[in-house]
Amino acid sequence: MKRVIYRGTVIDPVSPKKPDIRKGAYVITEDGVILSVEDRQPVQTEGDTIVDFGENLIIPAFSDLHIHAPQFAERGIGMDCLLFEWLNRYTFPEEARFRERSYAETIYRQVIRELIRQGTLHLAAFTTIHYEASDLFFRLLEESGLYALAGKINMDRNSPDYYVEDTARSLADTERFVSEHLPGGRIGGTDRHYSGRVRPILIPRFAPTCSGELLHGLGRIGQRYKVGVHTHLVESREEAAWAKELFPGDGSDGAIYENAGLLGNGPSIFAHVIFPTETEERILRQYGAYAVHCPDATSNITAGIMPAARLLAGGFPLALGTDVGGGHFTGVYRQVARAVQISKMKEFYEPEEKRVAFFEAFYMATAGGGAVFGNAGRIAPGYRFDALVIRDMSDEGTQLSPEESLERFCYIGDDRDILARYADGKLLSYDTLS
Ligand SMILES: [Zn+2]
Repeated sequence: MKRVIYRGTVIDPVSPKKPDIRKGAYVITEDGVILSVEDRQPVQTEGDTIVDFGENLIIPAFSDLHIHAPQFAERGIGMDCLLFEWLNRYTFPEEARFRERSYAETIYRQVIRELIRQGTLHLAAFTTIHYEASDLFFRLLEESGLYALAGKINMDRNSPDYYVEDTARSLADTERFVSEHLPGGRIGGTDRHYSGRVRPILIPRFAPTCSGELLHGLGRIGQRYKVGVHTHLVESREEAAWAKELFPGDGSDGAIYENAGLLGNGPSIFAHVIFPTETEERILRQYGAYAVHCPDATSNITAGIMPAARLLAGGFPLALGTDVGGGHFTGVYRQVARAVQISKMKEFYEPEEKRVAFFEAFYMATAGGGAVFGNAGRIAPGYRFDALVIRDMSDEGTQLSPEESLERFCYIGDDRDILARYADGKLLSYDTLS
């Protein structure tokens, strides 16, 4: 077995409160998995490789648990709209373009390059309603070396005429998608099989654009194939009120998905969760669901701020998402900074809500979101070496501590400060991807 040993300043988000930080530490890996992290140089055996990153930081790769891949081309546009205006004016017309495979390929290749460039090596992605384009995205992800949850989205009502599905067709396409993309499934037209790094998930857009028949049909598919669900939850007061009006028997946004049988079949991932009621909190807890905080999107499109500090203190699994294109930037590290910033605004206006500490936000972006992808999100024994090397952000003549360096990177760093990206111990390069 070939071991690779990485030396540098290791930051392991062992808990939201306190990371484990070790300067000049050695991360010993074998076949892309971390065996141990040592303070002293280990005895080398023949064939060992040592990669020395000096004072630079070795951190877990980022996880983006909520990104709309087909909205990549509209990021940073229409940001003065509120949710429904933005959907109708920008988003639905853009997503409808993915009926053309060639357009989808152009955008999806860019998305994957950009994710790697920004150090996002795990993602849960929305696509569009189109089977072909979603299949293409799934295959490109499989080839990329990233870890992902992806599928096709569903919407059969309250959508524009040019971008809506027939209920039966939506269910048939989704069942086909799920059954064809399970781990071990043959990659269409080839002799290769899906590795399981990219797994299918159900993606009803959100309750108001889905009929009860569609949601219940998806629930049956989830149960049959044991696949989870990724959707939006109480993302604005208007959305939550509209959902309740459309599903009067369910009583709350979260209960709509629960009653449709969509929860407990695999991971449940809910974006935003800005106004959770007792029912939503009970559902998050009961199903171990991930609540995904998307600070940029919250500021741009959505009204309200997730009570992240309260949910974290309550032990709920929390992650971060860019929500591109509702969020304008692809780097999850900037969401770490934004989560702290907007939590201070929340505390200012609602003193009973406390602010999020920097390392709590960093935890959400790494260990928090990484947990949905198996042993990912930490630099610790048994975890995959899915990691980034971040430049020591000290200025000339000054020396930052590792904590300060990481914080500065999240606030003002960019992809040029990411010196290396590893998934399964393999060096990923975004500029060689075609
Ligand atoms: Zn979203």
